Amino acid sequence: MSLKTYKKKRDFKKTKEPAGKVMKQKKPTAPIFVVQKHAARALHYDFRLEVEGVLVSWAVPKGPPQKLGERHLAVHVEDHPIEYATFKGNIPKGEYGAGTVEIWDSGTYKNMMEEKEKGKGKMSMKESVKEGHVEVQLNGKKLKGPYALVRTKLGGKDNNWLMIKMKSK
Ligand code: MN
Repeated sequence: MSLKTYKKKRDFKKTKEPAGKVMKQKKPTAPIFVVQKHAARALHYDFRLEVEGVLVSWAVPKGPPQKLGERHLAVHVEDHPIEYATFKGNIPKGEYGAGTVEIWDSGTYKNMMEEKEKGKGKMSMKESVKEGHVEVQLNGKKLKGPYALVRTKLGGKDNNWLMIKMKSK
């Protein structure tokens, strides 16, 4: 996991976003997720999952789907530092992602791919992201239940994924 791209895009003398670092220590608690409403040039929602010391992130223009079976475009973006999960406020004009950030939802999640039988698609979160198939059970205030994120190569772009609200089992 790396924050190289994240750091390259930002001038921490000008933005209050955390410079952060990859968290090495394993937490005893469940991994977190956060959704930040980001009123940048184009309004979008940033969906982030804690994976091995960073927040793996997607920009979801329409926001996370809230009806069963709905699928929304989710553009995979650079990993963010864990501390970003509590960031809210204004990113100054002229800086990367200029505009306001508010926390729209947050909570914990469970990796559903971890529960599959061994040898039948059982994957760690890191492996799931690499494979382009993430399944998580969200436990937030607004978002609850199973969600999938699937890489689609829509428009030939590798970073285009779909975020899908799944049926609870
Ligand atoms: Mn954003």
